[in-house]
Amino acid sequence: MLNIAGIAASAGVAIAKAFKLEHPDYTVTRREAADPAAELARLDDALAKSQQELEAIKERTLQELGEKKAEIFESHLLILNDPELLTPVRDKIQSAKASAEFALDETASEFITMFENMKSAYLKERAADMRDVTKRVLTHLLGLTYVNPADISEEVIVIAEDLTPSDTAQLNRNYVKGFTTNIGGRTSHSAIMARSLEIPAVVGTKDVLEQVNSGDLVIVDGLDGHVIVNPSEDVIREYTDKRDNHLRQIEEWKKLRGVKTESKDGVHVELAANIGTPNDVTGVLENGGEGVGLYRTEFLYMGRTELPSEDIQFNAYKTVLEKMEGKPVVVRTLDIGGDKELPYLNLPKEMNPFLGFRAIRLCLEQKDIFRTQLRALLRASVYGPLRIMFPMIATLDEFRAAKALLLEEKDKLKAEGIQVSDEIQLGIMVEIPSTAVLADQFAKEVDFFSIGTNDLIQYTMAADRMNERVSYLYQPYNPAILRLVSMVIEAAHKEGKWAGMCGEMAGDATAIPLLLGLGLDEFSMSATSILPARSQISRLSRAEMKELAAKALQMQTAEQVVELVRSIEE
Ligand code: PEP
Ligand code: MG
Repeated sequence: MLNIAGIAASAGVAIAKAFKLEHPDYTVTRREAADPAAELARLDDALAKSQQELEAIKERTLQELGEKKAEIFESHLLILNDPELLTPVRDKIQSAKASAEFALDETASEFITMFENMKSAYLKERAADMRDVTKRVLTHLLGLTYVNPADISEEVIVIAEDLTPSDTAQLNRNYVKGFTTNIGGRTSHSAIMARSLEIPAVVGTKDVLEQVNSGDLVIVDGLDGHVIVNPSEDVIREYTDKRDNHLRQIEEWKKLRGVKTESKDGVHVELAANIGTPNDVTGVLENGGEGVGLYRTEFLYMGRTELPSEDIQFNAYKTVLEKMEGKPVVVRTLDIGGDKELPYLNLPKEMNPFLGFRAIRLCLEQKDIFRTQLRALLRASVYGPLRIMFPMIATLDEFRAAKALLLEEKDKLKAEGIQVSDEIQLGIMVEIPSTAVLADQFAKEVDFFSIGTNDLIQYTMAADRMNERVSYLYQPYNPAILRLVSMVIEAAHKEGKWAGMCGEMAGDATAIPLLLGLGLDEFSMSATSILPARSQISRLSRAEMKELAAKALQMQTAEQVVELVRSIEE
């Protein structure tokens, strides 16, 4: 039995067999093959195995997800048998004595580059398909293990170095009972996705992938941040109880679903949810969310091969507004960059992507992308109380430029006779220290602030939120962070505006008393944190928390602040 400590990223306990999800290294180096006939035979063997796999996946997809989704694998099968691809590959093997993998990799890369440079969306999509098929065949030629998270079809715990947001989006929650990764922190996007999928997760374990074999029995304790490998009978029993207690506690919290969030002394605050897709709204309502405080629209742009059209976006925004039945919805405009990549934009790799060409910076330069999103949002605004916010605002000029584009699109739509609401609130995320410091000036021009502590902490402390080696610096309770938060809230209130928080700190049980005391108006968090937060706030007095927060602002270290908060619990 092995007990590995990590960061509790998504609450709950899961017990199942390990499934290692590894992205193999597909690098192919040129190698001269002495025997072309043997290489051709290796190629045919790899093609045949790939064919069998694809037929099986196609059949399963057809059964489980329907004809439309199965078409993807039909087109993969066509590529696999396409003479336009295979003839040059065979030629290279025979005439240039190339190894099968080199011949395939080189030929496919030529096609992929060609397709990627075409204007037609259909051909661009073929580039992605060709890449997938090539990887599948290379897997056999190089003797690698190919795993696609969407292929998992038994109850497992996924173990990985890291999970990209699109890996996480593909996990089927019916089968994936939990996951654990070597890297990442509470605010890495895989952790955030795990919470919205309600899958228990532990991240930042440093070496869980090396310590576990596929098939080992694993317990993921997403409540306390432990991964236990091959537990004894007693330990299995202990964790089964822990899992059941947690599930019972969730049932208790559910009683607070329709109740208004109020402190002990009668102060109302709004508890909203962070979502990534329209499907997440179901979880928001089930957990008694009073609104959506952050709709991360990036996921609409990911997992596809080209930008989503205005209509695709309009439908997504409209669906969220309609499903929320009159409750407010804050939609954040595209925040791509950092750990959220869009391969089809072909952006150059950067040394410091978190400090680079991302979010509003990209939108203000690639204006067509931004205008399309703004139009979709404006059109959707008549379906419910829409609030729009811009991410990663560092200067007033950026806010003004983004607002000007929004107003331009609004005028155009109106001129086209399309209805747009005049009640849309326009706000910004405060996640860059310059904006927090200058909040008094911003407050004169925005309708609201939403404090993005996930980034605000990493930029203030200069500690990468993805890097567990500097996670000790990731300190939400550091008085420096609390002072920035306090400045932002005060600046908003002075101008009669509201201040919310949509970073993970808003749902953190240790932070909640402080944030209530600092006067935060809206707390936006993972849907599953809403009911525990409502229960906690009902036991706190805002007046007392105001005193607590004032003391915290004068402390020296994060540890002292944590001690202070603990003292009220005793
Ligand atoms: C934040 O930075 O706090 C935030 C909510 O945005 P994201 O986590 O998507 O960067
Ligand atoms: Mg952010």
